[in-house]
Amino acid sequence: MTPRFGAHVSTAGGVSTAFERGDSIGCETMQIFTRNNNRWDSKPLADDEIAKWQDLAAQTGIRPVLSHASYLINLGSPDPDLWQKSIDTFVDELQRAEALGLLGVVIHPGSHMGEGEDFGVERIAAALDQCHERTDGFATLTLLETTAGAGNHLGYRFEHLAGIRAACQHPQRVAVCFDTCHVLAAGYDFRTESGYDEVMTHFDQTVGLDLIRCFHFNDSKFDLDSRKDRHTHIGDGFVGLDGFRHIINDPRFLHTPMILETPKGDDMHEDVENLAKLRALIDSAS
Ligand SMILES: [Zn+2]
Ligand SMILES: [Zn+2]
Repeated sequence: MTPRFGAHVSTAGGVSTAFERGDSIGCETMQIFTRNNNRWDSKPLADDEIAKWQDLAAQTGIRPVLSHASYLINLGSPDPDLWQKSIDTFVDELQRAEALGLLGVVIHPGSHMGEGEDFGVERIAAALDQCHERTDGFATLTLLETTAGAGNHLGYRFEHLAGIRAACQHPQRVAVCFDTCHVLAAGYDFRTESGYDEVMTHFDQTVGLDLIRCFHFNDSKFDLDSRKDRHTHIGDGFVGLDGFRHIINDPRFLHTPMILETPKGDDMHEDVENLAKLRALIDSAS
């Protein structure tokens, strides 16, 4: 048995079109946007689109599928209007994800906009409480993503993720997405064997490794501790092949989806190449 690999796939023409694209490049898992990621308003998913989605999910066997939340959402915003708009939009994200049977919605925790990290942690947890109360009983998860630490964005310390989850009224709804580019840019060096062990032990002691429910596999254009979020192709950046090899061959992550968010053109040949590079890292002895 080997881990499931996939990519972030376009939904141009309707959410269900992602399956054909994903299938054509050999995705075993994938991530999508379920709404326009740069707009506040979005049309609801039509019932026939949801039915088509379910058919194709069964036919292709691509699973799990995750969504990535809109970049406009800031659950840490000190501005009451933006905060409420963010909550309303994230509720919509969760509703779409639940309707499509997604594993979860990946979201960047949020920015405190200069109000301080303690403020941000509490503000984000309070926003999540509202979201989870309005989607009571949902199976789809909220996956807080590790971030690179640009500006006032939280999530570049594992402690932020642990703190937000601990402050939530419904922590069972909250898990984590580990983005390799972001974690390296945030200053965690997991590229050597000993570094990998140290970073994962630290993650386990703060958040808990069982809460990593998804990996974003991106190489990084900028080096360790750059605090810059710029993805590049597998093996072409500062993460390097070894950085991925440790995760791929770690039996603790055998069931955790590993998803590319690397640059690509319309024919997606870059994804095909990156997926091949990842699969080649599987240690045949394991
Ligand atoms: Zn992200
Ligand atoms: Zn990511």
